[in-house]
Formats: sequence, structure tokens, C-alpha cells
Amino acid sequence: MSEKVKLNTTPSKIDVKNEAWVLHFPRFGAEGTHFHTYGQLTPYFQGLTQGKLMGTHCVNPACPISKGNGELWVPPRIDCPDCHAKMVWKEIKNPQGYIYTYTLVERGGTGLEIETPYYQVDVFVQGVCTIIKGYLINRTPIRIGDKVKAGFLTGDQATHTCLDIYWELI
Ligand SMILES: [Zn+2]
Repeated sequence: MSEKVKLNTTPSKIDVKNEAWVLHFPRFGAEGTHFHTYGQLTPYFQGLTQGKLMGTHCVNPACPISKGNGELWVPPRIDCPDCHAKMVWKEIKNPQGYIYTYTLVERGGTGLEIETPYYQVDVFVQGVCTIIKGYLINRTPIRIGDKVKAGFLTGDQATHTCLDIYWELI
């Protein structure tokens, strides 16, 4: 068992249609390929492959909750849940936070592409109003409150999925 978690996946091929990524998931063998578009969420996945964590926030001054200065959502939402205005993209620079809670996954379900055992972590990042779900690359015992930073699978390593962001103990 290696010290760091590995993925059991092959990078998905992508097409670009009207600026949106369309993924090829050859997950069904002879049964065929599943095609899935990220639509307007494409900038989030593009960002991961470039080592950037992108969120969205509401900047509508008439919004009853954000009043034009909303906190960041990660994963992003396209429309504000409170005023339904289009949200605006913003990069979270040098994303760091702490483990809010976690689960040790010893047996994965069908199709899990993360080598077990691994820690499924929920991470609190300052300025982000959502708790970010992800996986920890370390296998050493952890505690709630441990500090972590984001790492990314970029370039040839990118899977073009949500697995392209992982968390690492600081
Ligand atoms: Zn709003």
C-alpha cells in the first residue's frame, strides 16, 4: 500500500461544443460510451486542469441575500439560488482550509475510481460558503481540524472530472 492515494482511471476524452466540454465516458465496455456535457459549468473543470479552483458568486445588488457581494460557491452554481441572477466566476487563489469532517472509505462502490482505503474529506475554505467535498491524497491518520491545501491533476494527468482536485495535508 503506497503512502499516497492513486486513481484507477484513464483520462476521459473531451469534445468542445459551443465552448462547453462534452466528456466521453467509455465506462460500459462493449455496451458503448456515455457522453456527458458540463454545459455552463465547463470553466470549473477547465480551471482544475490548469491548477485553478474556480467558484461563482452573486453580484446582483438587488439580491435579498448577497446584496451584490455574495460568498463563493464551490462547486459553482450558474444561477443564484436567492435571486436567480447569473453568478460570476472568480478564482480562489492558493486554496487552503481545514478538515470539517471525514470518512475513511475502505470498500468502494461499483465504478469508484479512487484506490481504497482513502479519506473522503469535507473541507472548509475561508470565503467559500459551501463545504467542499473531495478526497485526501495522504493515508496517514487524520483529525478534524487538520489543515489541508488543494492539489490538481493538470495537463496529461488530468482526468477532466471532479477527481482533478484533491486535498493534501499541510
Ligand atoms: Zn443573488
